[in-house]
Amino acid sequence: MASREERKMPNARIIAVSLRRWVDSSADGADGGDPMTVEWVRIVPLALLHLSCLAVFWVGWSPVAVAVALGLYVVRMFAISAFYHRYFSHRAFKTSRAAQLAFAVLGASCVQRGPLWWASHHRRHHAHSDQPGLLWSHIGWLTSRGAFRTDLTAVPDLARFPELRFLDRFDTLVPFGFAALLFATGELLESRAPWLGTSGPQLLVWGFSISSVVLLHVLCATNSYLHIFGYRSHATDDRSTNSLLFSLIALGEGWHNHHHRYPYAARLGHRWWEIDPTHRVLQLLARLGLVWDLRGIPGQSPRAGSATRVA
Ligand SMILES: [Zn+2]
Ligand SMILES: [Zn+2]
Repeated sequence: MASREERKMPNARIIAVSLRRWVDSSADGADGGDPMTVEWVRIVPLALLHLSCLAVFWVGWSPVAVAVALGLYVVRMFAISAFYHRYFSHRAFKTSRAAQLAFAVLGASCVQRGPLWWASHHRRHHAHSDQPGLLWSHIGWLTSRGAFRTDLTAVPDLARFPELRFLDRFDTLVPFGFAALLFATGELLESRAPWLGTSGPQLLVWGFSISSVVLLHVLCATNSYLHIFGYRSHATDDRSTNSLLFSLIALGEGWHNHHHRYPYAARLGHRWWEIDPTHRVLQLLARLGLVWDLRGIPGQSPRAGSATRVA
């Protein structure tokens, strides 16, 4: 809740603080106003990301650009699902400090802010499922004034790593680097392989804008769609559901009711047909020694490919 002093803060100051936070997300200054209202200045970058998709009418398309958008969607969906979600938010497996940093950088390339911010919000989602209203649960948590600060008290286990705090504080650094890399790659392809019909601006629009916006809304739909549609296997005290379709799109994140029942498990799909691509890749990474101690579901061997009955 905003204090009386914050409520009295002049609009100009609120805007100035918001602008500073475009670059430095932990810039000091009162948050001001009602924490549930939309923080317009602060979400301009998010709005611009959406608007930039319209540039597709100028840059056109090519098979290469669409393949890049699709490939980056899959890789980054995995990064969100395996790292931001299962690792940082739920500690579903263990890894080294170096790999943890690499996972954080990969997660940050998804343009969904820093690892500490993401994990603190997600832990709150599990603590208070079924937030007020569908719009709030889809995008409100991302755009409201009270939601911009990273609540470090919710992630003390992660906040003790200065490199993670740095990535979280300057959370536009990785996305900007990623966008620049895409642009440079497109320019290089245009000069060296003109027959591919792509360019810097085209790869930027497809690989960064369109791919990131789709990724963002699929993830947001975990909080909205997967609390309305689908079937329930466990009587959790929220309305979370399971969906095969959603799991195919979101690499296993559609087993949301299972997940609310066993939030710490590295594996979200329980039955043999409840496919969980993220978990398969995590098993592969475990075989390579990059991650270990994948947490299982009670009554089920952590290595089991097919599920025994649970609940
Ligand atoms: Zn949920
Ligand atoms: Zn979760």
